[in-house]
Amino acid sequence: EQLANQIAAGEVVERPSSVVKELVENAIDAGSSTIDIVIEEGGLTLVRVTDNGSGIDGDDIETAFFRHATSKISSGKDLFRIASLGFRGEALPSIAAVARVECISSPEATGLGRRLVIEGGSIRVNEETSAPQGTDISVRELFYNTPARLKYMKTIQTEIGHIADYVNRLALAHPGIAFTLKHNGGQLLRTLGTGDRLQTFAAIYGTTAAKSMLPIEGEQADYDLRGYISKPEQTRANRNGITLVVNGRYIRSFVINQAIMQAYHTLLPINRYPMIVLEIGMHPSLLDVNVHPSKMEVRFSKEAELRQFIEETVSAALGKQRHIPGP
Ligand code: ADP
Ligand code: MG
Repeated sequence: EQLANQIAAGEVVERPSSVVKELVENAIDAGSSTIDIVIEEGGLTLVRVTDNGSGIDGDDIETAFFRHATSKISSGKDLFRIASLGFRGEALPSIAAVARVECISSPEATGLGRRLVIEGGSIRVNEETSAPQGTDISVRELFYNTPARLKYMKTIQTEIGHIADYVNRLALAHPGIAFTLKHNGGQLLRTLGTGDRLQTFAAIYGTTAAKSMLPIEGEQADYDLRGYISKPEQTRANRNGITLVVNGRYIRSFVINQAIMQAYHTLLPINRYPMIVLEIGMHPSLLDVNVHPSKMEVRFSKEAELRQFIEETVSAALGKQRHIPGP
């Protein structure tokens, strides 16, 4: 069991940003409206995520750290219509296998909750404690018992770079959630959670960049598209400005990137990429997220149709801008 968790940890917990990803996804799944993230030393000494979501019942808190203890799906059929971000039930046990974890959680506003301490997969403390509604998980000394993994960590700057990038994307994917991100005491991000995606965009990329974005909107039987894209004169030299969100999940997709670039065809010099936030809504059955443990890669069942619709919709968003009649 412990060995299985350490093996799974190798897949799920590659570096500190994977811990942040898993904890923040859990906070999102719990319906939180505020998520506060505190990082020390690039996440190697501390990753702490505090949310105001549904919390974990005192009776379930130990179980949550066992393998495949997901509360989110209950049958194989559910795998084909996943709506939550988590579903594999291997994040918490994997993290707990390679760090010192403290979890304080309360499912109700009674002021009482449970505090669990797990080190290297072994439960040290499980006691009643005072706690506000929600969950507060601290992951300390990541990889303290897997020195080989620790050796692969890059500089603190690199690790916090990955973390900040990830949190930015999740904030863009969830403009209705107020996020804060702090590193070694300094604030790296604060979003208001008003639901306004352009406002969230501005919090990340600045108000000037936000002002030059064009709205994207499209709807057909299978897909719902919305978002913002930069004008052809406001592009970047790399793909980092592309944020794709499918059913609330931040994903990467070569196919969608290509569809977007195709819409820019003839407008854009070679090697220039747009800034774009594109949210794609679809029935969960049209999507397979169970491709890789990190859940970043997905498969679309009607890929060609989706690709064409994105190209058309993005072209229309850019076209509107090009055809504005002069005064
Ligand atoms: P998964 O997200 O795949 O279900 P995890 O290992 O990430 O598996 O979490 C295990 C379970 O712990 C979740 O299914 C959920 O019931 C509970 N849980 C974890 N984090 C939170 C949280 N922040 N708020 C409420 N419940 C949580
Ligand atoms: Mg999870």
